[in-house]
Amino acid sequence: MSTLEVKDLQVSVRTEDGPKEILKGVTLTIGDGETHAIMGPNGSGKSTLAYSIAGHPKYDITGGSVLLDGEDVLDMSVDERARAGLFLAMQYPVEVPGVSVANFLRTAKTAIDGEAPKLRTWVKDVNTALGNLDLDPTFSQRSVNEGFSGGEKKRHEIAQLELLDPKVAILDETDSGLDIDALKVVSEGVNRFRAKDGKGVLLITHYTRILRYIQPDFVHVFVAGRVAESGGAELAEELEANGYDKYVSALR
Ligand code: ADP
Ligand code: MG
Ligand code: MG
Repeated sequence: MSTLEVKDLQVSVRTEDGPKEILKGVTLTIGDGETHAIMGPNGSGKSTLAYSIAGHPKYDITGGSVLLDGEDVLDMSVDERARAGLFLAMQYPVEVPGVSVANFLRTAKTAIDGEAPKLRTWVKDVNTALGNLDLDPTFSQRSVNEGFSGGEKKRHEIAQLELLDPKVAILDETDSGLDIDALKVVSEGVNRFRAKDGKGVLLITHYTRILRYIQPDFVHVFVAGRVAESGGAELAEELEANGYDKYVSALR
């Protein structure tokens, strides 16, 4: 069971000129087993929403709430959020020089489960997850994200998703910079996750392309820090045809 409720979330970022309000009251509920797509123009606050839910220190929550199965997420540390079952695949994954993929994954899994995974099955699980994403077993010896291609970064994020098995996955532009083969492999990974019982997905994207492979239950148009429109998968088709203009100009 998993439900993520975002209620009237207001968020500011600290800038040199003082706080800048970015999210202006975001409300959405990802019900048990649902996939929601958030689509919106650059700068509309999509990544801010993802980071705020995940607990990035750069963002100040000025109002509203985020609940995971009724528990207040905003009260939790970043680690506690991960242990509670939240996962964030970042738009720009960070490099961790000197830390191998194998060590990184094992440390993350241990932190989330509260105990180290059993070595024999773990190595097999890691190799399976990497193989599912078309990554070679030797990939696990590379430093996290160091010198990874755009596609390798995104495949690695989805391999993490498979291994860490959260309740709710927030995927921020997991499709950006992927060629068609990588897009398919990554989408298949997300669909495997979705096929499990009660998993929630918040799929943030700029383009409708990935939604041909991952069909959302709901689509939200995100403009200027707010949800401007919500609908079913057909809303993505409407956006594909007409773009965001209608929603952007409605704000002028
Ligand atoms: P999106 O992911 O939809 O492209 P972002 O959440 O990255 O949007 O950014 C939303 C807005 O917040 C943008 O106008 C961006 O310039 C601004 N913003 C984000 N982080 C900062 C920051 N550290 N300093 C100043 N402005 C920021
Ligand atoms: Mg962007
Ligand atoms: Mg973004």
